[in-house]
Amino acid sequence: MVVELVAYGGVNEIGGNKFLLHDRERNVRVLLDFGTSFQRYGAFFNEYLQPRTARGLLDALALGLIPPIPQLYRRDLYQDEWWEHVPQVTHLPDDPPVHGLLLSHGHRDHFGDVAYLREDLPIITTPITAAILRVMQVTGQSRFDTQWTHFRPRRWDEKGISQAQRQGSLYYRPFQLLTTAALPEGFLHWWRTWPADLDAPVPQSFPGEVAGLPVRWWPVDHSVPGGVAFALKTSIGWVAYTGDLRFHGAQAEHSRALMEDWANLGVAVLLCEGTRLDGYTHNPITEDQVRENALNLAKKAAGRLVVADFAPRNVERLVSFWHIARETDRRLALQPKDVALLEALAPLDPTFDQVLKDEKHVVMYDDPKAMRYKWEKPLYQGTWSKRTVTHREVARTPGEYILCFSLWDVNDLLDLPAGARQDGVYLYANSRAYDEEQAVDLQRLRNWIRHLGMTMYGDPDDPHTPRLHTSGHAYPQDLVDFVCQVRPRVLVPIHTEQPRLWVDLLKGTGIQIRFLHHGTSWVHGTSFKGR
Ligand SMILES: [Zn+2]
Repeated sequence: MVVELVAYGGVNEIGGNKFLLHDRERNVRVLLDFGTSFQRYGAFFNEYLQPRTARGLLDALALGLIPPIPQLYRRDLYQDEWWEHVPQVTHLPDDPPVHGLLLSHGHRDHFGDVAYLREDLPIITTPITAAILRVMQVTGQSRFDTQWTHFRPRRWDEKGISQAQRQGSLYYRPFQLLTTAALPEGFLHWWRTWPADLDAPVPQSFPGEVAGLPVRWWPVDHSVPGGVAFALKTSIGWVAYTGDLRFHGAQAEHSRALMEDWANLGVAVLLCEGTRLDGYTHNPITEDQVRENALNLAKKAAGRLVVADFAPRNVERLVSFWHIARETDRRLALQPKDVALLEALAPLDPTFDQVLKDEKHVVMYDDPKAMRYKWEKPLYQGTWSKRTVTHREVARTPGEYILCFSLWDVNDLLDLPAGARQDGVYLYANSRAYDEEQAVDLQRLRNWIRHLGMTMYGDPDDPHTPRLHTSGHAYPQDLVDFVCQVRPRVLVPIHTEQPRLWVDLLKGTGIQIRFLHHGTSWVHGTSFKGR
């Protein structure tokens, strides 16, 4: 066996991608993403029953949520005797055990468990994805399992409780950023100094190889900016990994260029996502159509409040609503988290910079709360201090705003008097509910909207409402065209609940399909035998 591939997540499920690729001939190991498996996590945990922080990695290891490989993890998060609690522990003989993590994009089902990884493991990703990780870590809940870019090592006390340390130096994970030109000064400055208590080292640029193994990367179209696909030149030929991709978003030309390049490359093994393989019944819709539909609704709502609800890192959607704000002469009121993300991304992409600088149409919503987070304070004191709006201002002229709210902010609408929100329009620009909990949340949101006297559009369960969302994932025909063009020797279906659908779809093409099973150990994980 020359090249071995073990799936620790991302097979027979959507997301949770965690692949370990081992080129035995060159003795190089590379991780392809290290995401959280919401399916496996949800099998054991909910909002109230969560992994115990006081016990470091014990819960995740004992439940098989992360690979049982001691050498992979931060040394301060586990104790040696625990390996007896973990089934089928695999000890990697080499030092370093793994040479790098190729991180495809900034969604948690691809990067969520990076916080557990040992601190010297290089993270190879785009500047945009690195920035998303930093912003999510800083603006989210402060827990050790969200320390994706930097952390202060924890300490075990005599009772075996993992204690956070307030003193001592921060450890910064070594990022190797994928870039074809010098990184912009503005970004480097932001990376080193945001938020103010950081003093991060300058990130390196990716040298094009991991421990001598050539690695190439391509930008792809997905519902978060900064996404890439990778190909590694292994002993058995090119092993290609799509991450998540689609062919109908604003960056569709990237995915098409990838298809052409990979067709010419000669791919031996293709790990290809198949999220939407299970027959998406609606007609394909593009981001342009989403923008058009939302624009029409906003125009019809003249004089009334508009709320735009979209996924926090779907910056493409944010840009769509910015265009709508300009065309309807409204002001887009962003949450502080959105502003923090835009400030990070602005030096990397001129469109985001334009949005940020549009003082006429972009403001920050200042919700009344008793305490501000540390990272928020500079925003309210700095340039944004003159660009905030409060509920009082919105109440005076609700028709002048588009509020970027979601279920998690919907209670802030109670600050508006009934007259200001009456007959307002709530644009739900999100995906359908994928599990029971999301379905319950969606029902809660409907209850809120009805109670507030507003009208909801874009409800994914209402076939008659204008559609306000387009999938982040390729439609079935695009996927089949892609694989047929690339013509790998072997296809490994990933990121799908129905990998067997590929069998019929690829009939007669001569492309072999290799199904991997979720293996939490080297012994049970199905490995791929290269030719
Ligand atoms: Zn994904």
